Amino acid sequence: MEVDARLRLEDPNYAARMEAIEAFTQEYIANEAGGTRTVVTIPTVVHVVYNTASENISDAQVLSQLEVLNEDFRRLNADASSTLAEFVGVAADCEIEFCLATTDPNGNPTTGITRTSTTKTSFTTDDKVKYTSQGGHDAWDRNSYLNLWVCDLGSGLLGYAQFPGGAAATDGVVCDYQAFGNTGAAAAPFNLGRTATHEVGHWLNLRHIWGDGGCGVDDFCADTPSSDGPNYGCNLGTISCGTKDMVQNYMDYTDDDCMNIFTQDQKSRMQAVLAPGGARYSLLSSDGCGGGGGGGTCDVAGGRTTTGITSSQATLNWSAVPGATSYNVRGRQVGTATWATGSTASTSINYTGLTADTDYEWQVETVCSGGTTSGYSASELFTTAGGGGGGTCTDLGEPNHNKGNA
Ligand SMILES: [Zn+2]
Repeated sequence: MEVDARLRLEDPNYAARMEAIEAFTQEYIANEAGGTRTVVTIPTVVHVVYNTASENISDAQVLSQLEVLNEDFRRLNADASSTLAEFVGVAADCEIEFCLATTDPNGNPTTGITRTSTTKTSFTTDDKVKYTSQGGHDAWDRNSYLNLWVCDLGSGLLGYAQFPGGAAATDGVVCDYQAFGNTGAAAAPFNLGRTATHEVGHWLNLRHIWGDGGCGVDDFCADTPSSDGPNYGCNLGTISCGTKDMVQNYMDYTDDDCMNIFTQDQKSRMQAVLAPGGARYSLLSSDGCGGGGGGGTCDVAGGRTTTGITSSQATLNWSAVPGATSYNVRGRQVGTATWATGSTASTSINYTGLTADTDYEWQVETVCSGGTTSGYSASELFTTAGGGGGGTCTDLGEPNHNKGNA
């Protein structure tokens, strides 16, 4: 959460994006969780950044981490049988898998592992490891890949993650080379790959199980007991806030050999991020693991920008999608429940009747021939200009019209 606080300070729009993602998550949980799902496979690239030979971890150590992620997010972990009886009922197969990328962002074959020699003897949460220009390695497109950096994090830090809603250049997870996978340089008690399981949980919008606060602060999951702080080691009998803590949860701070469970509500939060309109939905159409989904798919429009923002309206723009016959657009004030909707064959639309100095979000969905749709994109956010009177009815209209003559 230290990193989350820094993002809030550095990126003035981050808090609004987080708020929009949380509103979307709550709406998804209320309306859609429990519906039919298919297993989602996330193309993953591991960037090994090393100063010493031991930091240049083996392919086997990388592969062992992928294996752990695939076990933990499918509840195929051997220690699932150790989950305390009172929590077995809420344990979840999160139906998320990870594949090492086979195609890089340029369309070339790859092992899914990059290796970068650096003069930096250690990194920290300042994100330098995420930039080639600062001794690390640039992120691959976060819309198509999960970026996992492995380096010497120094000062006892095991790993850190960026929540959905942050900047593209720094999106992903960083792990210390001794807290990654379950072989090679991995060192006890963090040698079973659970640091990455925990951090990828954050990357998919999970909070710490104690909510990063006292008994009254929640992790937005009703099926995890209240807790007043992190647990370390593995004391299965820990009581806080009047109930037994779920110290075996991946989102606590316990040792690797203690952790073995995600819950159903944690699963719903992660599935929301991967659902149509979710912040990481685009990963489902990635070709990073040789999906080869060209031609027959109805893709979400990229190149989404908001222009001409005044106190009462804005123009929403996106790039044309091959095979598209029209586009559905929806927008709303951040934090409200009801979408204003519109449709156009063009690649822009005017969003009018807005209130001054207010945060709005919008999404676009491609309609292809035959009536198939792409599902809505992730939200784009903008803030209307201050001053002036705001309208009371909002409208999405053709770009060559406005509320006055539509
Ligand atoms: Zn954490």
